[in-house]
Amino acid sequence: MLPSLQSTTPEQLQSQLSQWDQPSYRSQQILDWVYRKHVASVDEMLNCPASLRNQLRSAYRLGLPSCEQVQGSADTTRKYLWRLEDGAMVESVLIPANPALYGEASDRHTLCVSTQVGCAYGCRFCASGLEGWKRNLEVHEIVGQLLAVESHCAQELNTGQDRKVNNLVIMGMGEPLANYDHLMRALQIINAPWGCQIGARKITISTSGLVPQIEQLARQPIQYRLAISLHGATDEVRSQIMPINRKYPLATLMQACERYVQEKGKMITFEYILIEGVNDGLDQVAPLANWAQRLHAKVNLIPYNQVDGLQWKRPELAVQEAFLKGLLNTGIKATLRREKGHDIDAACGQLRLKVQREAPQPGTAV
Ligand code: SAH
Ligand code: SF4
Repeated sequence: MLPSLQSTTPEQLQSQLSQWDQPSYRSQQILDWVYRKHVASVDEMLNCPASLRNQLRSAYRLGLPSCEQVQGSADTTRKYLWRLEDGAMVESVLIPANPALYGEASDRHTLCVSTQVGCAYGCRFCASGLEGWKRNLEVHEIVGQLLAVESHCAQELNTGQDRKVNNLVIMGMGEPLANYDHLMRALQIINAPWGCQIGARKITISTSGLVPQIEQLARQPIQYRLAISLHGATDEVRSQIMPINRKYPLATLMQACERYVQEKGKMITFEYILIEGVNDGLDQVAPLANWAQRLHAKVNLIPYNQVDGLQWKRPELAVQEAFLKGLLNTGIKATLRREKGHDIDAACGQLRLKVQREAPQPGTAV
């Protein structure tokens, strides 16, 4: 299969252009079409001569994931369900700033992208892992989610080349650090001045706690932000809902996080979903605060988003607030997410699961 233009570096492109005896300024033009104008086909590269377009078509693939479904509207959380070349589906969620409700800067638009089709880690509360792991996303499929969302927004708002996304969270379907090499290459493109131009400090990678890859990430030079999906402050509670905790228990995970913080001099975030009767007891507050203090981490409490077919529930608001208050009383930094997108299946993997389950199975009478 041909390499994708969306995973080709300027150096590789330059070298190909010089083999074709094309002037080197063409490289910038091509990158502009791909990353500024989000074209899905070489045919749209109007300032490139037909001979070059033919050469590009013979050497590279170019396309954007096709949009299977969009939920939400321009000023609320919007969820995209993409169909990839092999028919697999993944999700991205665009969370526009909401200055009125959340006091955020109005130019901040966060996109959450997926890194795998399904997930092998089987956290008990999560829709992404319910039907197992199918495959890793390719570099261009990770970058393509961002390009396709920007293209969609530009068309919808009729703003031509305006950029939309300036904050990226790798918190969609899949375990990002289990697709480490593709993720790193995709993020380089997303971060590059010739690529999507999103600053490394505006990119957050969320992991369920893959210790060797956290250590690898600590050693690589770009300063991405790291979020750890904790969801339990003791091994007893965490192992109940996250099988990965049996392989990398909290003490081991925290050692890796400590090395990350030392190496990078960066603050990390602990994501902590509040699930009724599982991890929302006040007995979790002290151990959670201890880990956060030790690592100078911030805690982001997230009310659980109910998943069809799973028994877990979101605790009452009073329980959520008591948990937050308990944490704040210890002096650590903590926030409770007043969640956006609850009504549109915005937690990772939910929309795909629903669409797949509603779709007629092969051999089923419709
Ligand atoms: N695999 C990575 C990133 C994808 S999951 C990880 O686990 O960190 C992104 C975040 O969504 C994680 O913190 C995950 O625990 C959380 N999540 C999964 N299902 C959820 C649900 N139903 N409600 C709220 N958050 C959920
Ligand atoms: Fe996978 Fe993350 Fe979901 Fe766990 S929470 S099953 S690691 S996507």
